[in-house]
Amino acid sequence: MTDFKLLTLPSDQDASGRTFGPEEIQNVTDVLRSGVLTSTKGNYVKEFETQFAKKVGAKHGFACSHGSAAVHVAIAAIDPQPGDEIITTSITDMGGLSPIIYQGAIPVFADVDPKTFNVTAKTIAARITDRTKAIIVTHLFGNPCEMGPIMELANSKNIPVIEDCAQAFLTAQGDRYVGTFGAIGCFSLQQGKHITTGEGGIVVTDDEALARRCFLFINKAWGYGDKNPDHYFLALNYRMSELLGAVALAQLPKLDGVVDSRVRSAAALTSQLRGISGIETPHISDGSVHTFWKYCLLVDERVITGGAVGLGAKLKERGIASAPRYIQKPAFKCEVFRDQRTFGNSRFPFTLARPEAVDYSEDKFPGTFEALKNILVLPWNERYTQEHVDYIADAIRDGVAALTKTPTTTNTLEAAVV
Ligand SMILES: *Cc1c(COP(=O)(O)O)cnc(C)c1O
Repeated sequence: MTDFKLLTLPSDQDASGRTFGPEEIQNVTDVLRSGVLTSTKGNYVKEFETQFAKKVGAKHGFACSHGSAAVHVAIAAIDPQPGDEIITTSITDMGGLSPIIYQGAIPVFADVDPKTFNVTAKTIAARITDRTKAIIVTHLFGNPCEMGPIMELANSKNIPVIEDCAQAFLTAQGDRYVGTFGAIGCFSLQQGKHITTGEGGIVVTDDEALARRCFLFINKAWGYGDKNPDHYFLALNYRMSELLGAVALAQLPKLDGVVDSRVRSAAALTSQLRGISGIETPHISDGSVHTFWKYCLLVDERVITGGAVGLGAKLKERGIASAPRYIQKPAFKCEVFRDQRTFGNSRFPFTLARPEAVDYSEDKFPGTFEALKNILVLPWNERYTQEHVDYIADAIRDGVAALTKTPTTTNTLEAAVV
């Protein structure tokens, strides 16, 4: 048994792993003193929208209450007919999926690449039909989807793409940030995201007509500023309050530093883990910038006893709370999809679905099942130092060493020859 001292890692669930300072306190105090807590009258949310859009390179930004709300706003802006299909991914947060159903559309799951956990042009193409109204791509863990081929495919079919960038702030491909490839980009400001207001979200777009619908959907579709305003269509109040806008605006200038720190510490871990047999470090394509919402390893259970679960248990002994399988099971295995539990007993909108669109047979999702079997998600944040990275690397090395299977009879011979 090796001796080790337990180190407590900074956590994104409290101040230890977050970047709050006097700037946030100052802004929040300013809002409270002013007594203007609604964004319909105040300036913090408006200023955050303007600056965030500029930062990612989009024309318009509209803040809202949650990342889930951001996805809902994007879908409502595209305005599907009931029963229209929206292609999405089988590995994501439920907040990226339930808005599809709320807008009466059918979520059609595309398989993922088992190495990057992202949908690809190929897996999307396999699900496109004449009922496809939109495609949602999720840049999982902060690693970008291959947007070149995806946009080529979508443009050739004239299908709008929504980018779920909740985990992908300043994630880039070539010279562009994600969120600006498709028609609309959606971000979350939830407690554990790159920058945070506890709960919150924002959408960005370059398209004037979509921008108008995003604004309206966040505002009960009330035509603020119009000559004869009305509630133009069915919509909710998804506004962000000025208190959160105040925090968001103070967080924004810190985003570059947050991302740099995450990228740097992740690269340090990757270089320490290189060459360890039985695990794979994140697959990042040329020209892509992965901004590490989480650091995800692939664990080969043929080499390591117990695979991702076994290694996760070893890390837990060192106080490292990893998540084998990330979401435990593909989204479509959750009861809401499996049993079509939606509005009362209606099963709406699934009652309108083509049978193939809701066929969740495992053999349709080989990449998804392979990925989830092998994924080990390490918590990550901008406050990790070299000491933390060394600690995690040591724990992984020791865990792998303890769990590496002894060669079987067939390859004992090989080993003996070597
Ligand atoms: C966090 C997240 C959401 C939902 O955001 P909330 O702010 O929690 O509502 C949606 N999609 C993805 C990929 C996420 O990670």
